[in-house]
Amino acid sequence: MEAKRILIVEDEKSISDIVKFNLSKEGFRVDTAYDGQEGLDKALDGDFDLVLLDVMLPSIDGFEICRKLRERNAVPIIMLTAKEEEVDKVLGLELGADDYITKPFGLRELIARIKANIRRTALTDAGSAAASSNTRDFGNLTIDMDRYEVRKDGRPLELTLREFELLKYLAEREDKVFSREQLLEDVWGYEYYGDIRTVDVTVRRLREKLEDDSGDPKFIMTKRGVGYYFRRP
Ligand code: CA
Repeated sequence: MEAKRILIVEDEKSISDIVKFNLSKEGFRVDTAYDGQEGLDKALDGDFDLVLLDVMLPSIDGFEICRKLRERNAVPIIMLTAKEEEVDKVLGLELGADDYITKPFGLRELIARIKANIRRTALTDAGSAAASSNTRDFGNLTIDMDRYEVRKDGRPLELTLREFELLKYLAEREDKVFSREQLLEDVWGYEYYGDIRTVDVTVRRLREKLEDDSGDPKFIMTKRGVGYYFRRP
């Protein structure tokens, strides 16, 4: 199998070096950028399987890079945030990052997160390549469960992998209500260091893309005091 390519955008050379060393040892091909503009240019030009993105960077910060990348493609992004910057996690996810990890982090945890995020992409690619499709219609919404494609009124929607997986999970279990904790466990799929706001943020982003009026949703419904469910409109 061809080596997966990872871009590390991190201005602290000591961190970048040790992460690069350990990822290379795991068989990844690693490229680095030490500055925001360089990181953005490389991420847009290169064909990476994942981008590891620090928040505080010279010239362009990680949030801006994340936002710009998301306008162009759906490469998995893991943001590196400082421990005291709780708000950063939520902002990063709102801008379309797939995951975040707080500094200081353990290398084993980081590598596990990277592998989990790349595995999800690999599943997506396998889905896209499958000859048969598994399409389901929910009113004017069409979800191709295998190809990871969503159309509304025939128009394709640009969802991140995580947004798609949450939608797929709920749509396959129509009308069943799930708690945020359960969604974290089932959709995020590995031990997520327990911030249930992650679910709320992803639901909000999904509604903005899916619903005519995200304040009055017709697909992704809130069950007050419990959690979320998918409803056929
Ligand atoms: Ca930094």
